[in-house]
Amino acid sequence: MDNFMSLKIKAVSENEAFARSAVAAFCVGANPTVDKLDDVKTAVSEAVTNSIVHGYENNPDGVVEITAILSGSTIHIEVTDTGVGIADIERARAPFFTTKADEERSGMGFTVMESYMDSLSVEPNEPRGLTVRMSKDFAASKKATE
Ligand code: ATP
Ligand code: MG
Repeated sequence: MDNFMSLKIKAVSENEAFARSAVAAFCVGANPTVDKLDDVKTAVSEAVTNSIVHGYENNPDGVVEITAILSGSTIHIEVTDTGVGIADIERARAPFFTTKADEERSGMGFTVMESYMDSLSVEPNEPRGLTVRMSKDFAASKKATE
């Protein structure tokens, strides 16, 4: 049977490390390699940080929800906020696109999530906000390009 966990955190930056570690601890049940676990931690960190700094623009009243499902050797992760959302998702996913260049953001968060995970989908969360879904198979052999 699939295993799952769900976590709701206040949208403050100190909770990002907690969310990343909680997902990593949950993944240990699937015996990931250290490298693959690091990939998942980085991707979760990018998604949660985006919800906090972009979705809620650092308003601590926001709530970020993180759900992880372990299905066989594959982890499926969903990060959801009810913040401002993204008008043009395709443009936002492009490498180096950022709306906060003045805050020294590089616009590489989605690109990192996409390259570190096996799949990434970014969709509006109805009625507002953003849902990021990503998955990674811990059993799959490394890609030739890695
Ligand atoms: P970096 O992640 O490199 O620090 P960044 O956060 O700007 O920079 P991405 O993570 O790739 O880059 O996100 C690209 C853009 O998409 C952001 O600048 C922001 O405009 C928008 N965005 C991302 N996540 C969200 C979100 N949860 N809610 C609203 N807008 C978002
Ligand atoms: Mg980002």
